[in-house]
Amino acid sequence: MSSRPIRARIVTEALRHNFQVARNHAGDSRLWAVIKANAYGHGLLPSAHALSGLADGFALLELSEAESLRRAGLHDPILMLEGFFSPAEIGPAAELGVTVVVHSHHQLQWLEEAELARPLPVFLKVNTGMNRLGFKPEEAAGVVRRLAGLRQVAAVTLMTHFAEADTDVGIAGQLDRFGHVRAGLAEIEGISIANSATLLRYPAAIGGATGWARPGIMLYGASPFPERRSARELGLRPVMTLESELIAVQNLHPGDRVGYGGRFEADRPMRVGIVGCGYGDGYPRHAGTGTPISVAGRRTRTLGRVSMDMLVADITDIPEAGPGSPVVLWGGSGMGHVPADEVAMAAGTISYEMFCALAPRVPRIVL
Ligand SMILES: *Cc1c(COP(=O)(O)O)cnc(C)c1O
Repeated sequence: MSSRPIRARIVTEALRHNFQVARNHAGDSRLWAVIKANAYGHGLLPSAHALSGLADGFALLELSEAESLRRAGLHDPILMLEGFFSPAEIGPAAELGVTVVVHSHHQLQWLEEAELARPLPVFLKVNTGMNRLGFKPEEAAGVVRRLAGLRQVAAVTLMTHFAEADTDVGIAGQLDRFGHVRAGLAEIEGISIANSATLLRYPAAIGGATGWARPGIMLYGASPFPERRSARELGLRPVMTLESELIAVQNLHPGDRVGYGGRFEADRPMRVGIVGCGYGDGYPRHAGTGTPISVAGRRTRTLGRVSMDMLVADITDIPEAGPGSPVVLWGGSGMGHVPADEVAMAAGTISYEMFCALAPRVPRIVL
């Protein structure tokens, strides 16, 4: 174990609670728990074990992750969110018993040329306006016909992804295009359109018993639209608490400056605590003076620039704080709770990026 005081505590009970919140919004729809990117930095296997049997399956990105789940004895359905990246992955995918997204003509051709022991369920991705992955709406009917004729393919589900489910624009335009595609197709098993934002804002649109929602960020206790509604207002609990300790204290005179670039200058006598956490741990470097942080269970603010291994907290009004005092960078509960979304907003980023950026040098403690 590292001797630095920093660690990320992962509370799997909160993950299960947040999954239940997703379930409560989903009606009869089934739920893929999205655990790509090492479960948004929370740890693939602990997260999968916590949700196995609760979720209807797991959505992820890399075949190696699917193999890890199977090796760990987890037999839940798995959706490969971007399908296979080369023809060589198709056989192993079929052997692992996963469901694959097919989003492009080259994937379709690889599939047609594959020799498989058993057929693969397919989520056919339609590009309804995000212009990232997917077939054009006018191509969908032809692709479905080709898929339906393949011995390599089991059931086909129609899928899309919304670019602005979290903004004022919403999903209406893309949903309308998707509806037109769907209406022309008899062979479709179901639909999959909802990320966290869609599930929370447009539950009536997600397909009822034919729907497969794909919540990610909400499972980890952050809001998909923090400017509109906080995680707490959505009934979500933080899963990850990034915590450390004060490793030193400095007393400042008026005019003293703090950290690289002297970005913060004291205008009165102050006490500041030096926290054992920096951007080398994944804390966002662009979090400036005023970013919320808690020390000794009390909320305060950061001061000046974040360094690689340290940052600075204002403890002028927390006289009981000293070297060794506990610090919460994000997460936690009670008085010292620091929503990850508030840190992200202060840094001009999103909780997704902060969670994913948690550095490998930070030990994860799974509770
Ligand atoms: C990552 C991802 C999701 C989950 O999105 P959240 O905003 O985290 O809920 C859903 N669908 C697809 C295709 C994704 O890539």
